[in-house]
Amino acid sequence: MQQHLPGSDPSTSLKDPVSLHTRPPFPMQAQPWPGLASKMEPRPDHGETSYVGRARLTGRKALITGGDSGIGRAVAIAFAREGADVALSYLEAEEPDAQEVAALIRDAGRRVICLPGDIRDEGFCQMLVGRAAQALGGLDLLVNNAGRQQSAESILDISTDAFDWTFKTNVYAMFWITKAAIACMPPGAGIINTASVNSYDPSAHLLDYAMTKAAIANFTKGLAKQLAKHGIRVNAVAPGPFWTALQVTGGQTRERLREFGADTPLGRPGQPAEIAAVYVALAANDASYVTGQVYGASGGEGNP
Ligand code: NAD
Ligand code: MG
Repeated sequence: MQQHLPGSDPSTSLKDPVSLHTRPPFPMQAQPWPGLASKMEPRPDHGETSYVGRARLTGRKALITGGDSGIGRAVAIAFAREGADVALSYLEAEEPDAQEVAALIRDAGRRVICLPGDIRDEGFCQMLVGRAAQALGGLDLLVNNAGRQQSAESILDISTDAFDWTFKTNVYAMFWITKAAIACMPPGAGIINTASVNSYDPSAHLLDYAMTKAAIANFTKGLAKQLAKHGIRVNAVAPGPFWTALQVTGGQTRERLREFGADTPLGRPGQPAEIAAVYVALAANDASYVTGQVYGASGGEGNP
């Protein structure tokens, strides 16, 4: 075997995942929650200049929660370039990020509707789905991706309010939005939830968050069984460490952020652009036998 493997060869389309993208250490930084991707250093790569669509989702109508930044933004860009119209859910404070995404969706020649608001409210979740379906003329893709993650060293540091906030965002909102969405979803539609490596291997400093991610993976498998007869597929994606606003707004301590992703086999965090294709694959019609699955993208470890 060669002692030194060659790097990415410019004469082919091969790309070495080791040398792609930024490696830790990262510059010290923190933002007040929910943060903006546009203020991160380095700026995350959501595929703005790299994602090439292949008409895999032509005419589809997608609602993506947390579509302003991070993984949700990368999915929004990819879905639009694959031919889908997109409704974006996010918080009002994230309007600058959301407008960047909306412009990219329009550039792709697709329709976009921006629906800011707090998904911790059941009434808002119902309105969100209704307005998305009305604006897009239906709904056949739902990406439950919005999430809340706050690092706490001890269970004693997690207040009931904080616990409730995490569960409302990650579990209740997914439940409410899904309930509203399936009422208008035709056979062939798909739901993709965002789980985590924490679904299976909880981080000691993310107790409440990890519990919600276990619930999301479990919900995905149960709902897939229930909706199979309606022709609606339900899957989840389980990311490892990804360079997103979630991590610089309390998701990690400053110290952990500096070395973020260093402990993965690839030795770096993923960039959102590196996971969007998984959502596309799960959404596309040719994955018609794929339901009830949790697909990992975590730099070399993760799913059981
Ligand atoms: P992100 O901060 O860019 O995205 C999360 C989004 O959630 C925010 O942009 C915001 O719009 C939305 N959100 C949060 N609370 C909300 C509320 N109350 N109402 C409406 N919207 C709300 O970070 P991200 O890392 O891209 O997170 C996306 C998903 O990926 C989350 O579910 C997260 O748990 C999951 N995930 C992330 C990582 C990672 O390392 N970044 C790893 C595993 C799983
Ligand atoms: Mg955001």
